[in-house]
Amino acid sequence: MLSIPHALTGAFVASQFPTPAFYVPGAFAFHYLQDWIPHWDFGTGLSTGKRKKSTAILLELCELVVTFGLIYWVFQRGHSEIQYHIWIGGLMGIMPDFIEAPRNFLKWEPFFLKPLNEFHGLFHNSTHNKFVGLLPQILTVAVIIWLVNW
Ligand SMILES: [Zn+2]
Repeated sequence: MLSIPHALTGAFVASQFPTPAFYVPGAFAFHYLQDWIPHWDFGTGLSTGKRKKSTAILLELCELVVTFGLIYWVFQRGHSEIQYHIWIGGLMGIMPDFIEAPRNFLKWEPFFLKPLNEFHGLFHNSTHNKFVGLLPQILTVAVIIWLVNW
């Protein structure tokens, strides 16, 4: 999945359960669950050569800027103090993809990350159909924004 729904989900879990013992494993668990839903993201097509690595990295960096802005707008706006649990929860929401990035983009995988990446890979379901692949992600983001402002 895209980083936006993963990060917003991790941040949302942290907003509801502000203890790291809950939101860190919660953010990871939701990441794997979300990756299990057939999805389209900037990495779709990398393995088949339909997407260049440099394009995927550039799009991902742009998406991270948008993700940062969305977390700020949805969760941090209006708070004078930094909501550390929100930002850490958001980071944990995208951590499985960060852990996998050196393998995907540099062909470098430290041995201690291999089990985590293999576990992550068990859940991954991609689709080239952008409508089917983006709809659950758009719904996730919309529901989180609605719940936060409820
Ligand atoms: Zn993932």
